[in-house]
Amino acid sequence: MTAANQTVTRFAPSPTGFLHLGHAYSALFAHEKAGNRFLLRIEDIDGGRARPEFEAAIREDLAWLGLRWEEPARRQSDHMDDYRAALDRLDARGLLYPCFCTRKEIRAEIEESGFAPHDIPQGPDGLVYPGTCRALTAKERQQRRAEGKPFALRLDMAKAVYAAGSLLWTDADQGETAAQPDIFGDVVLARKDTPASYHLAVTVDDHLQGVTLVTRGEDLFAATHVHRLLQALLELDTPSYHHHKLLTTEGGERLAKRDKSQTIRALRQAGKTPEEVQAMAGMAP
Ligand code: GLU
Repeated sequence: MTAANQTVTRFAPSPTGFLHLGHAYSALFAHEKAGNRFLLRIEDIDGGRARPEFEAAIREDLAWLGLRWEEPARRQSDHMDDYRAALDRLDARGLLYPCFCTRKEIRAEIEESGFAPHDIPQGPDGLVYPGTCRALTAKERQQRRAEGKPFALRLDMAKAVYAAGSLLWTDADQGETAAQPDIFGDVVLARKDTPASYHLAVTVDDHLQGVTLVTRGEDLFAATHVHRLLQALLELDTPSYHHHKLLTTEGGERLAKRDKSQTIRALRQAGKTPEEVQAMAGMAP
């Protein structure tokens, strides 16, 4: 007798457009790696871009592809309290600070500090924040808040890394990996427009949903360094990871959301069958 495969995986699209072939591959990959539990999560905390009609289209396209997931699917915007609770825990440990900077101010600050353009510190998410607001006094913070200035909450990375110590995580292809969250600098954990961020929400959700294997594209490999750190700070479970290759066009370019001909919807309308789309995504039906 063999033990049941307990692996729990998820597909976590953002409802900001129609799913394309790359998403089909990612969803089928997650489904293939699942034991008897496959979950869907709608990552819609980006209120400015997420649309209910895209969520409906995601469900329809995934079902058409032949995928079945556990209901109810988790919709991030329904769980803002969970993210707030996580932020409160980090704040209570003195690991967060409010950041009032605009993108323009951040760029100006970096330019003024005399970096040659090719030396400007870049992290996986773009410019590394120079830490301007970390140095504000309690009084200055209070003043800016009283003025009604919008602020994000950033993680004090040096403090957080010190508090957590060295951390490891495992990727199915890369093996055991030492977490290097500091390459991101002081990441935003609560955005100005929404009291959460991608890094915070996925980490909390993967834990609360009991995901044991996170599968996603290799473009998010570095993000896992930050997620591993947050798991340690918030005492959350650490799943295993499997970052997969990204589908590319024949010319080797990454599939772009704007290439409408590669959406599952367009392929359906052009008369393709689910089996044909699965094959086009590189997954044998
Ligand atoms: N929502 C993310 C995306 O659509 C995926 C997040 C994840 O798998 O961790 O790219």
